[in-house]
Formats: sequence, C-alpha cells, structure tokens
Amino acid sequence: MKWNEPGKLEDLICEIVGWHSRTGTQGEIDFPHKLQDKLLELDYFQTNRSHIQLHDAKEERNTLTALYKSDVTDKTIVLISHFDTVHTEEFGALGDLAFDPRTLTEVFKERIDELPEDAQVDLQSGEYLFGRGTMDMKMGLVLHMHLLEQAIVEQWPINLLLVTVPDEEVNSSGMRAAVGGLNEIRETFGLAYELFLNSEPSFSQQARDDNYYIYSGTIGKIMPAALFYGKETHAGEPLNGVTGHFLASHLTKMMEFNPAFEEVAYGEKTPLPVCLKTYDLKQDYSTQTSHHTAALYNVFVLKRSAAEVMDIYHRVATEAMEECQRHYEAICAREETEPIGTIQVIRYGQLEEHAIQKLGEEAVRVIKQDVFTCEDLDEREKSIKLADELMLHCQELAPATVIFFAPPYYPAVNDSDDPFIQDKIQMTQNILKEKFAVDAKQIHYFNGISDLSYVNYAEHDNGWKAYKENTPTWGDVYSIPFEGMQQLQAPVLNVGPFGKDAHQLTERLHKESAFVQTPYVLRKIIESMFA
Ligand SMILES: [Zn+2]
Repeated sequence: MKWNEPGKLEDLICEIVGWHSRTGTQGEIDFPHKLQDKLLELDYFQTNRSHIQLHDAKEERNTLTALYKSDVTDKTIVLISHFDTVHTEEFGALGDLAFDPRTLTEVFKERIDELPEDAQVDLQSGEYLFGRGTMDMKMGLVLHMHLLEQAIVEQWPINLLLVTVPDEEVNSSGMRAAVGGLNEIRETFGLAYELFLNSEPSFSQQARDDNYYIYSGTIGKIMPAALFYGKETHAGEPLNGVTGHFLASHLTKMMEFNPAFEEVAYGEKTPLPVCLKTYDLKQDYSTQTSHHTAALYNVFVLKRSAAEVMDIYHRVATEAMEECQRHYEAICAREETEPIGTIQVIRYGQLEEHAIQKLGEEAVRVIKQDVFTCEDLDEREKSIKLADELMLHCQELAPATVIFFAPPYYPAVNDSDDPFIQDKIQMTQNILKEKFAVDAKQIHYFNGISDLSYVNYAEHDNGWKAYKENTPTWGDVYSIPFEGMQQLQAPVLNVGPFGKDAHQLTERLHKESAFVQTPYVLRKIIESMFA
C-alpha cells in the first residue's frame, strides 16, 4: 500500500499541501485534476475509470468524487472534505514556505522567538507539523485517501465515496454543486448512503484549549441584511431628508448582541449577532447626503429555520424603525418642521412583488439581469444593489428599510439523538481512551462552519421557502439545492485530526493524532459498519 503508514501519510500530506489551493486561486482550480492523477496511481481506478468524477462548481472549479464499490452491499459511507485553504498573507516574507510543511517547521525553529509562547512549546516538542492547510483540512482528505486505499486492497464489504470540494472557506459552491452529483451517483451505482463522515479537524473552543473534540452536528450561519433607503438632501438643509446612516444606526444598535437570536441546545450556545459589514452606496464625496446604505448581520443558528430567523429579524427591524421614527419626530418637533414620512419595514419578497405590479415582470427581469451581470460585485453586493435598484424605481415606498438575506447560508445539522451516531461516538471515545489515553469530548455543533450543512436537510423543513423569497440573488447568482439536500438522508459525524490555530500563521497539525490515532479510529468506525 502507498498511503498506509505514519511516514507515508506524512509524505502525502506534505505533497498535497504543496499543491497550494487557496480559495479563489489557480491552485484551487488545478487541485482536483492533480488529485485525480494521484488516485489513478491506484490500479482500481485505472480499471474503474467512471468511479472518479469531476462536478462543475463554476468558475472552472470542480468537486471530485471517487467511489470504491464493494460487490456485496449497497451500504455506503460518504467521506467529505474540502481542499481549499484560507489565504497566507500573515506569513509575510515566509509566504513561499506556507505550503512546505517540513521546511516551514525547520525555519520556525530558527525564528522561534517570533512565535507565541504556546506555539514555541509545540514547536520544540517536535510533535507538530506547521503549514497552511495541514490542519484545516488537507489531513482530513489524506485520511480519506488512506481509507479508500485500504478498502480497495482489502476488499472491504462496504462502499466508500470520497467527496472533496473547493470553496468551503468562502461560499461553499463546491459542496452545493456536489449535492446533485451525490444524488446521481447514488442512483447510477445503486448505493444507500448510511453515514456522512467529515474529517474537519478538532477546533479549540477557547484560547489554549488542548481538548480533542468529535462532532455530531454542525452549527448553522445565516446573514440577515438590510438596505436603508431614506431621502437625500443637501448637508446645509439636513431636515429636508433623512440619511441611510440615521436609519442604519438604529437597526445596528438593536441587532448587535441581541439575545433574541441566541439559541441553546445540549448546553451549547450560539455566539451573539454582530454587524459584519456596512456599505455606503453613495459613490463619491459631496455635500449631498447619503440616502442609501446597507448592512450585513451575522447570525448563528442551531435549530431555527430561515423562516424563523426572518420572523425574529422582521420584529427587531420593526422595533428599531419605530424607535428611529420616534427619535426623528422628536427632532422635527424641536426644530418645528414636518417629518418627511413614516419609515416602513419591507421584506425583499414584498418589494419585488410591488415592483412587478408597478413595472411589470419583464422590467424587473431586466433590472435583475443588469445587476447579476455586474462583474465587479460579489454575491452580497449584488443582493444590496438589486434591492437598491428596485427602491429607486419604487420611491413611493421610501423612507424604508428593506430586509433580506445575503449569501451564504449554512443550515444547522445535528444527529446527537440518533442512536447510531451515539453508538459511533461512544465507540470512538472508548477506542481513543483505551488505546491512546486520549479523552475525546463530544460537541453537538461543530463551531467552525462545515460542508455537512448541505446534507441531511430536514425533510419536513419548509423554512427554506422564506429564504428563497427573501434572497435577492436567489437563482442565477446564488442558490442552495434544498430539495436535493432533502434526498440526502443519513446521519452526520465529524471525526478528524487534532491541530491548533486554524487560519493563523501558526496553523499546525498534531502528528500522532493525524498519522496514528485518527487513522486507527476511522478504520474501526467503518469496520463496525461492515455488511
Ligand atoms: Zn475546514
């Protein structure tokens, strides 16, 4: 076997870290092709060429799937990983070495004083391999390759489907593209998916956290956004209008840290909402006031659907604008002037409907098309721009705060109550404890955002309809295959290697965990499912 011992696993992780694949770069485009060549080194895939497939994830990027098919069963485990990594700006002059783990680890030894104290200790211990993507999460992919090879050579009585995707760190277009592919492969090869096994690394829950975690679910993340559309005026006559900033300040104050969005499940709590970004849609400086601005708010979810989040958000926005209105009217009274109007809160879906009635479907389609083809705007900016364009055509609605969702959306998934998952967690904990004296703690919602969000979507959940209606870019620019996800019904589990400081200069992988412990335990989990 090529990938079956600690030394060989270390060689393999160094090699594929070397295929640097930061999100949005050429390396990310090339990666699945290089991986395909690597997998073709196994005779099995030479004979079964159709078992490796590339799935278009747009912008030349591809998701890769590789299937080991046993002849004795339809039982299948889907192994999920992502091959993109975050950028390497913080490496500065060491940038070139970020993708050369062994050299980087040596060079760090020469500059040990520049590292934080806990990283110094780990460096001196010799137990860690540093480098971008070592921990998050090329080692997870290497482990899946290792499992695939074992299954082939030893002819395991279970099917393994390796799925590795681009763009996990930004928009998850890779995993969203994989959903259709997974449904197709299941039909083509007559498979039954019984487990979605991700191997994202164990993430620390707080600073200097040495605990090892395994996960029975993944946290959700959704992005309520708002366009604040006031009325422009000259700075010399401020009371003849109302700025977008004035409206925005009231909602932002009420959104940030708002406990109405907090969720608790299995003793785990969502981080509170914050404002991620604000936009002033006035292009240049002038003494004309800015009547349109926008904001994005980050909200984490555990159990709530998009519809429920929208309802809470609508309530908060209504309260915020009522307060804004009171505040504004008090100023008008003091200054003995008339208010320019009453601020409304409008859902994007309602705005679009209003615009269609007023302008006709064709006109709205053209407006959408113009916005969606703006190449210099990202998915979030396109969402804002579309709401803004529609408001420009429907100024009778102003002053108004238009509320909507901006991409991306990661639904929460959790299988902590599934007896099958409970059994696998127990098994993992026992093995790690008895064989390696490692305490594996269970976390119910992986806190790092993962691709598991796009499988095992609750069959009865209709909350996505509110998402679709209130996401301006839905369709051409951004979509989530909710119905396809509902067909991917199997429990989720995340067991990966231990590492530290993901997304930082000192990202590092614990070698014993990566090359000895996790391979052993993953094999045991799979063996326990043999037909
Ligand atoms: Zn990751």
